[in-house]
Amino acid sequence: MNIFKRLRIRHILRRYPVPCDLWRQAVKTLPVAQGLSAVEKAHLRELATLFLRDKKFSGAQGLQLTDAMCLTIAVLACLPVLGLGFGCLSGWTEVIVYPEAFRVAREEPDDAGVVHFTEQELDGESWSRGPLILSWQAIEQDLEDSRSGRNVVIHEIAHKLDVLNGPADGYPPLHRFMDLKQWTLSLATAYRTLVRQVERHHHPCLDPYAAASPAEFFAVVSEYFFCAPDILQTHFPEVYRQLQLYYRQHPLQRNRSETDKVQSNGTIDQF
Ligand code: ZN
Repeated sequence: MNIFKRLRIRHILRRYPVPCDLWRQAVKTLPVAQGLSAVEKAHLRELATLFLRDKKFSGAQGLQLTDAMCLTIAVLACLPVLGLGFGCLSGWTEVIVYPEAFRVAREEPDDAGVVHFTEQELDGESWSRGPLILSWQAIEQDLEDSRSGRNVVIHEIAHKLDVLNGPADGYPPLHRFMDLKQWTLSLATAYRTLVRQVERHHHPCLDPYAAASPAEFFAVVSEYFFCAPDILQTHFPEVYRQLQLYYRQHPLQRNRSETDKVQSNGTIDQF
């Protein structure tokens, strides 16, 4: 990072920190923030500060966005890059939030070249250098039912990370120390298992949407990695291990230490 960028970041962090009360409230109410160490929380607060300065938030269909709502989105968007750096979230600026699921019309040609018009209802969407589009209702539902392993913001950020090195294909730019063969083997094996479960109408061990494509698989397992790491570890331990290496985080460890804290103190330190 060049000196000017570094000075700008320092200026933003000093001049526009997330207010303490707002930050405390966000950390208290976000299940994924539980178990983070004090150092991780401080770093996450810095990343969220940069996110709020760097991105332009707008509410669609009359949705009035509050500071708390924007901070919730910022924290969830920055959690995956806690070990990767804010640079992974650069190259786009817009965050558009709908009150509920939004409709998207598409034109898709089939193999014969005939164009079909389809309309989909989505909770989230992201483009490689375009906006991050979210449904606030979906964000709230994810937070209420955090054990479901679903989180639309983390899902869309995983797509953003995936496309940093080309089209969305479930292969984000891996670290030099990582083994590409091991990544491929772990994720492809798990993906095929899930596709088989869905095709045979067996109860899938993860959200069946993950079977839609390798890109969706990566986005969905990223949601589980942060929100329900025990489920991912139980069903696909090799995938958990690869995501642990990629994200440079160990959410399962966090959950364990949080459980220990509750058992020994009866309370949770939520800041
Ligand atoms: Zn997706």
